[in-house]
Amino acid sequence: MRQRLLVLCILAAVAPALPAQEQDYSKVQIKSEQLAPSLYLLQGVGGNVAAATGPDGVLLVDDDFAGVADKIRATLKGLGADQPVRFVVNTHYHFDHTDANLPFAQGGAVIIAHDNLRPRLERGGMAGNGGSISMETKAAPAGALPTVTYADELTVHVNGMQVRVHHYPRAHTDGDSVVFFPSAKVVHMGDIYVRYGFPFIDVQGGGNVRGMIGACADVIRAVPAGTRIIPGHGEVASVEDLREYLKMLEDTTAVVAGAIKAGKSLEQMKKEKVLGAWSDRYAKPKAFVDTDAFTESVYYSLNPPPRAVGGAH
Ligand SMILES: [Zn+2]
Repeated sequence: MRQRLLVLCILAAVAPALPAQEQDYSKVQIKSEQLAPSLYLLQGVGGNVAAATGPDGVLLVDDDFAGVADKIRATLKGLGADQPVRFVVNTHYHFDHTDANLPFAQGGAVIIAHDNLRPRLERGGMAGNGGSISMETKAAPAGALPTVTYADELTVHVNGMQVRVHHYPRAHTDGDSVVFFPSAKVVHMGDIYVRYGFPFIDVQGGGNVRGMIGACADVIRAVPAGTRIIPGHGEVASVEDLREYLKMLEDTTAVVAGAIKAGKSLEQMKKEKVLGAWSDRYAKPKAFVDTDAFTESVYYSLNPPPRAVGGAH
């Protein structure tokens, strides 16, 4: 039930037009956008999917919900990609990014992820920001688990392209991958970067605002000008957009760190709305993460309660 609630939260954040109880994927339409000659952004109901197509087969970054896997396949066919999906890279374990692992693996795809992602999918557990956002993720079936995992960095050579998969420690979760397509000047950042407002930080899943800041700063340093950034949710962004988001993360974190130093409790910070200056821009009505929830995320990143340290399982 709680998992259902999270799905609804995410759906509400991503597709506000969808009625709350809607679990019927039959009406979902996959939107596609070409970012480079053989690289597409596909948007269904879950996280953003990147698809690199060509004669070797398709590489996907994230795979949305299982209920839309056939629609993703049909969309790829419509784009002229007749080869099957051969690789799926999971940016992190949340089910709106990994739920279709099973159907794609059954179709012959190799699932690739960071070392820490596999046990989280395998065992399930509690995800949450350490405060008011908390939800259970159920254990994934064996066939949905990544068969290739890596520690720091991995490169996939496919369709004449180098796809660089890079781990950033303790950011949105403890098993995040950012995927670089250098020849296309495109990066998929998973939920380290989202465009629906304040980000969700899965502190209970090993995430931390400091890791989010480190990852964004590193991506900005690493990519050439004109690179397009695929966020975990929302429209394609520019490096300048990512820089603005990074500044928000840095500035809000500095405010909460200052309040902790001044001896304020989390309750006081919420009451005084210490992050109120960012609410208009980042906490729209019905936002998935409101200003209080984001204050909690930053607070528990800097000042973790004992249960949040490696306590997801
Ligand atoms: Zn996520």
